[in-house]
Amino acid sequence: MLETYSAASCAQLNTQKSFLIPLGSWPDGLTFNEITTVRQAEMLGMTVCNSFEERVEINWTKTTALTRVTLFQQIHRNLNLFERVWHVNIFCLSKLWYLAQILPLPVKYATVIERAVSFYIWKGYLYKLRKAQLVLPKDKGGLQLIAVKEKCQALITRNIIRGQRGESDPMDNEFWKRHIPLFCSRKSPLPQAIQNLWKIIESYPPDLITADTKQQTKLIYKYIIKNSIHSPRIVEQFPNQRWQKIWHNIHVANIPTAWQTTVYCYINEIIPTEERKHRHHLTDSPACKICGFIDTLKHRITICGTAKTTWNGAKKSIAANMAYVKTE
Ligand SMILES: [Zn+2]
Repeated sequence: MLETYSAASCAQLNTQKSFLIPLGSWPDGLTFNEITTVRQAEMLGMTVCNSFEERVEINWTKTTALTRVTLFQQIHRNLNLFERVWHVNIFCLSKLWYLAQILPLPVKYATVIERAVSFYIWKGYLYKLRKAQLVLPKDKGGLQLIAVKEKCQALITRNIIRGQRGESDPMDNEFWKRHIPLFCSRKSPLPQAIQNLWKIIESYPPDLITADTKQQTKLIYKYIIKNSIHSPRIVEQFPNQRWQKIWHNIHVANIPTAWQTTVYCYINEIIPTEERKHRHHLTDSPACKICGFIDTLKHRITICGTAKTTWNGAKKSIAANMAYVKTE
C-alpha cells in the first residue's frame, strides 16, 4: 500500500521517522516495513493512544498541570480582583478550550482547575465570595468569571450537535448519522463519558439544538449556568434593594478597576474590618487602628480620618446636583 502511495504521489515515506499506533483489535507486535510500533504519540497538539479512557486521562492530566503552573507563575502579579478575573478568562484558561472540544473533562480535573483559579483570584483576601457568585453575569452581581466545567461541557456538546447536523466533517457528512444509533442503544460500545454527554444533549431545549452555529456555544453555556444559578449572599440578605441598578453602577465605563474592586468588596461585605475580624476571633480588639472607634464598614467610609471630609463633600455635591435638577 505504501509503495502504491509513493508511486502515485511521488513522495517517499521516511520509515525511520514514522510510527504506527495499533488501534482497535490490532495486535501489539504487528508491524510492516520495519516501522516502529508505539503505544501513544503526539498528534495535532494532543496525545493519541488506543484506549479512549487512557487518552482522556493522559491529555487532561497534562493540560490541568499546565494550567495550574500558568496560574502559579502569575500569582505574584500585582492585580486587583477585576483584573485577575480578566486575566484568568483571557489568558490562564485559554489552553483548555482546544482539548475541551474533543475530549470530555472528567470532574476530578475540573475541580483541580477550579481550585487553582480560586486560589489565584483570592490570594491575599481574608474573606471571599463563592464561585457561584463570580460566574454570574455583571448585572446579577457576578464578575463573569468563566465556569470551567460548564464551558467545557458546552464546547463538547456543541461539537456533537454540529456533527449530528452534518456540519463537522466536510469529507463524511453521514458519519454522525451512522453513529447516532450507537449513542441510544443499550449495548453501546461507546465510552460511558460520551454516552453521558448524549444524555445531557437530550435534556437541552430544542431551540439550543437548532441554534445558529456562531451563537450556539454561548447559548448552551448560558443555559447550563442558568440552571445552577445562586443569588449573591448579600442580595439574599437585603432583597429589597435596587440590586440591578447597584451592579450596573459598579460596572460603568471609565472607572478605574481598583475603585471598582473596592466598591465591589465593600458592597459584598468582604472587607476585613477590625470589628469583623474580632467577631471571628482573629484580633483582640474591634477598635480602629487609626482613631480608636469601633471599626465597621460604615466607620471606614463616613467617619475615619480623611474619609469624613470626602463623605461630607460627596453628600454636599449630590445635594447641590439634586437642587439643580429640581430648579431646572
Ligand atoms: Zn477609624
